[in-house]
Amino acid sequence: MEVLDPVWGVPVDTEKTPFKVEMWGRTYYSVDEQHMRRFVEGQRVAYFSMEIGLRNDIPTYSGGLGVLAGDTIRSGADLKIPMVAVTLVNRMGYFRQVVSETGEQLEYPDPWDPSEFMRELPDTVEVRIGERVVRVKTWVYDYQSPAGSLTPILFLDTDVEGNTDEDRQIASYLYGGDDIYRLKQAIVLGIGGVRMLDALNFNVLKYHMNEGQSSLLAMELLRRNGMDANKTRDRCVFTTHTPVAAAFFSFPYETVRELLGDEFDLEKIRVFAGKDRFNMTALALSLSTYVNGVARAHMESSTRLFPGYHIRAITNGVHPYTWTSQPFRELFDRHFSGWANEPELLVRIDTVPHEDVRSAHMSTKAALMQYINEKTDADLDVNTLTIGFARRVTAYKRAALLFSDLNRLKKVLRRGPIQIVMAGKAHPEDEQGKELIRDLYTFKEKLRGSIDVVFLENYDIDLAKRLTSGVDVWLNTPLPPYEASGTSGMKAAFNGVVNFSVLDGWWVEGWMEGDTGWAIGPAPDAPIDVEDRRAMELDDLYNKLEYLIIPKFYNEKDNWATIMRNSIGKVASHFNTHRMMRRYASEAYL
Ligand SMILES: *Cc1c(COP(=O)(O)O)cnc(C)c1O
Repeated sequence: MEVLDPVWGVPVDTEKTPFKVEMWGRTYYSVDEQHMRRFVEGQRVAYFSMEIGLRNDIPTYSGGLGVLAGDTIRSGADLKIPMVAVTLVNRMGYFRQVVSETGEQLEYPDPWDPSEFMRELPDTVEVRIGERVVRVKTWVYDYQSPAGSLTPILFLDTDVEGNTDEDRQIASYLYGGDDIYRLKQAIVLGIGGVRMLDALNFNVLKYHMNEGQSSLLAMELLRRNGMDANKTRDRCVFTTHTPVAAAFFSFPYETVRELLGDEFDLEKIRVFAGKDRFNMTALALSLSTYVNGVARAHMESSTRLFPGYHIRAITNGVHPYTWTSQPFRELFDRHFSGWANEPELLVRIDTVPHEDVRSAHMSTKAALMQYINEKTDADLDVNTLTIGFARRVTAYKRAALLFSDLNRLKKVLRRGPIQIVMAGKAHPEDEQGKELIRDLYTFKEKLRGSIDVVFLENYDIDLAKRLTSGVDVWLNTPLPPYEASGTSGMKAAFNGVVNFSVLDGWWVEGWMEGDTGWAIGPAPDAPIDVEDRRAMELDDLYNKLEYLIIPKFYNEKDNWATIMRNSIGKVASHFNTHRMMRRYASEAYL
């Protein structure tokens, strides 16, 4: 296997180079001494995330938050930003979804074996949880960018000799168990993570908290800094992802005290984490110099939630190469050499003939249709306008909004046929979400003979790649302002797939009506009351489908291709994690 220099990304001759070091359970080779030293001793950003979705066979993610963390790591390494990431091993994964013929979601553990992908280190650190001291070890995964640097990812684990059986399971199930279990996980991630970085001699420049679940790291730093908040803030960056207060992780102080004991002065910590309840978002917010929301609209709603704090906006993105299908990678390679590391080059997509864009899309679409027709009893047609909708199934995402009025939906067929492809998991404790999946199955039955609706099981990274690239229109109907950003529509854009979405999250910034796609409902700042908004969303959904989208798709092929090109040139060129990471590096890290 070709070995790359971990800082420079250039090939190293492992036989000849004198620059090598034994570290984290392996030998690293470098092309020169300066780069070797920088890799071993140089400062790094420590990126903490409760979930990381790096690859399909490591199922330690539940949705957008984890996939964003994976894309962040990938773009960070491509851009040679020195980082180390920290998460939990969660060896039972999130869960594997099977859906019965009636739409009943069945959940199975999704175990994976870390030793297939990463090295277990002998080092351990201790955290106190309840009456016991729990020992934490770590696995190291090396993410090597093919064109950039190497980012180690620490997967913390409590399955250590000497821990009780119960404690050995703390890092087993992502978002499993009750509140107490999740607080224990937060202790292992935040406090254990900081201690592990020290034990492994990492030289940390900044600690970046991806969402509030990692904020106990700030509390640990505060304790070490003798409760000096300013000193702590200098080191912390916080990205919030939750737009409503009800979704913050918070616990009664009683519970926190029971688990943490007296190592932390909770009376003093109340000033930061909240008077009545221990709020992990408040903790992160009050102990970070740089705080940001994940889209402009989300920054605005977060500012209203937390008056007095300066919250910035760094809009999310997706990793260019990962989310671009093979036919489009080849097309972009032919026209824009280096596009994957400089996605801005895609602004020149208008120099590519319509026919080439269409033909790349048709290969991707044909591959999806074949996949679906083989996997299910569906018989989808490659020439039919195909609408995709896939994401976590939870109430605010309104997966069934399109089916609110079946008669109205059927009327759009006057302009041409459509078919619909859906997927998504509901959290095992989310009864409303599971009910929604049952509803989708009912609608699917009711539409039989007029619209083919397919629901694909076990939405994961691989399926997301197929769906976001292989449909024609990517639909998103969240209830504003709950969608902090959303990212799947950006994946669609890299493949010339057109967005049709409610104006919430990132789409407020990406949307140019009729040029980059279409809006469903009014802009967030329009002075329209809530009830009228809901009605306008439904009107737009059906009217735009019937009078704009379907006719354009079937009768104005060149105009449709122009919108596909705009999706690439005006959306994908900007809404990617390369742009996002350059901003984190220049504004938050340095
Ligand atoms: C991108 C992605 C998401 C996030 O999609 P949204 O539309 O932002 O909700 C969720 N799950 C998987 C598997 C993804 O790849």
